[in-house]
Amino acid sequence: MKLQVIGDPVLHSKSPIIQGAMLAALGLDDITYTAHVVRRGELPQYLAWARKHGVAGFNATMPHKEDLIPLLDGIDPAARAVGAVNTVVLRDGRAIGHSTDGPGFAAALEHELRAKPRGLTVTLLGAGGAAKAVALALAQAGAARVYVCNRTLSRAEELCALDASGCLVPAGFDAESLAQCAARSALLVNCTSLGMEGCPGQFGDFSFLDALPGGAAVYDLIYHPAETRLLAQARRRGLEGRNGLSMLIWQGVLALEHFLDRPLDREKMADAAADALAHY
Ligand code: NAP
Repeated sequence: MKLQVIGDPVLHSKSPIIQGAMLAALGLDDITYTAHVVRRGELPQYLAWARKHGVAGFNATMPHKEDLIPLLDGIDPAARAVGAVNTVVLRDGRAIGHSTDGPGFAAALEHELRAKPRGLTVTLLGAGGAAKAVALALAQAGAARVYVCNRTLSRAEELCALDASGCLVPAGFDAESLAQCAARSALLVNCTSLGMEGCPGQFGDFSFLDALPGGAAVYDLIYHPAETRLLAQARRRGLEGRNGLSMLIWQGVLALEHFLDRPLDREKMADAAADALAHY
């Protein structure tokens, strides 16, 4: 069986390490998982090639997560809500898309921070693709309130309008708005690209961290660098902090369940992937 990850750029992707470690832990040495550069606009040709050459499924990263949707035979409700797919299963002549980013975040939260979304009040920074997946996963899992704080307020408003429960509340990204939201939150999640290696931009001011109640935690979706300035500042204030590696691992575990079409020992899979990444 052949599995792949496609994107542009993609050769830096950790998915081959993660999936390779899980497949090895399952003793499935005959299944390969490899990275392939597919440029924007090349998806129809890739899909035809993948079908012809017996690819059983693939993960998709930048810039394909949204462009794939019209080319698929079906998508699951989570992917439909987010408007993006990161996992495609090719089976019985059909291409079905899934989104494991949001469920992967929820699983990471539970395993890394021992926090359940139900009843939680969260300050979420950003309103891009990752923020959408995380915010909707939190809302669907019963979070009490998620303040979606974004530089471009209209994008936060559009994101919040996707959820009818009223759990998602748009807010600004200025110091005062961030502090007001943080003061009511047990968890702060960074879904912006601020602090990511190779990306422009950095938080100018971390005073919003002072507003978080004692015992609050900070989760940064970024894992490159392993410790962002946000996480370092959170730890300096005695707050628990985690980077996005666990989300990356857990979305991979859930993707593998889709590819193999069976439930896996998820913790064993996540441990195998984390171990492989630690030795990489
Ligand atoms: P995206 O769609 O491009 O969204 C970027 C977000 O960052 C937007 O909300 C944008 O605000 C905000 N932003 C960018 N520059 C800013 C600045 N100078 N000041 C304030 N806000 C700024 O990106 P994405 O796909 O959501 O990814 C976001 C981050 O999550 C990336 O670092 C990515 O690597 C990470 N990620 C991690 C995982 C994981 O598994 N751990 C999964 C997915 C993504 P505007 O709307 O105002 O432009």
